[in-house]
Amino acid sequence: MPDPVLALDLGGTKIRGALVHGAEPLRTDHRAERAAPHLERVAETPTPATAGPSAILDAVAELAERICSGSRVSAVGLAAAGVIDSGRGHVTHATASLAGWAGTDVRTPLEGRFGVPVSVLGDVHAHGIGEARFGTGGDRASMLLIAVGTGIGGCHVIGGSAVLGSHGAAGHVGHVPVPEAAGVPCPCGRTGHLEGLASGPGIVQLARRLGADASVHDGHSLAAAAAAGADPALTAYRIAGLATGRVIGGLLNVLDPEVVALTGGVAEVGGAWREAVSRGIAQEAMDVVADTPVLPATAGSHAALLGAAARALDELPS
Ligand SMILES: [Zn+2]
Repeated sequence: MPDPVLALDLGGTKIRGALVHGAEPLRTDHRAERAAPHLERVAETPTPATAGPSAILDAVAELAERICSGSRVSAVGLAAAGVIDSGRGHVTHATASLAGWAGTDVRTPLEGRFGVPVSVLGDVHAHGIGEARFGTGGDRASMLLIAVGTGIGGCHVIGGSAVLGSHGAAGHVGHVPVPEAAGVPCPCGRTGHLEGLASGPGIVQLARRLGADASVHDGHSLAAAAAAGADPALTAYRIAGLATGRVIGGLLNVLDPEVVALTGGVAEVGGAWREAVSRGIAQEAMDVVADTPVLPATAGSHAALLGAAARALDELPS
């Protein structure tokens, strides 16, 4: 049995990790026969988000050492928040939620601690690889992951590899302009982008602008109000879902993936939001791509860990 990969997923609120057994590099040529990888010693710790990069890296290393204790690993795969330069293992851009994170070298400290190759990529890209290889993507040639939750992100995976972009920034689906978001601030600092309107917090704000009272203050209360058929919660989901669907329809025209996988807290609410997404796709997708399957993601909450592990193995010398 080869040594497992240590997979880590560093997000804005928590750091998760596990040993991943049985993930195989992309070059392996018996994909149909392989067993699904499995995770061992899954653990997590809060991200010290305001304490600065060295505190964050210390928390990552402490969690990693706790998970590894006594086990050899073949490589480390880290999925990290922010825009990642995977070639250098550096964070190039990050939101204010992780103080001082931009500019951090995340690879060198982990290589120093573990003495094995360390692969670093953006968390949405890792999620996309995990979903494409071990979830809804199955063995399809290409998949577009759309994640709608606290933010809106995406990942186009072709032949099991994520399209990272020349800046590591490919897949920022939330930062596509939509007319419904005109004048609405976006977390990126601009206005009019999908994420400001149609992320989880964006939909709560939309419902409030449409007249919802203070009982609608977060995703849970919004979803409960919509499930009870209450306006404006329901209308907010419909407006946001339609805008999201129109963006997905436009992306189908550009990228023509074999399947779309929907994930994230908003996507899991389903109902009126999901129906509006379908209407939006139907409005914008050209006939030739309009029947592209749009399915729930199935790789589960550890998809990013699986993707980070798989990518780490891809990068090992054969
Ligand atoms: Zn934006």
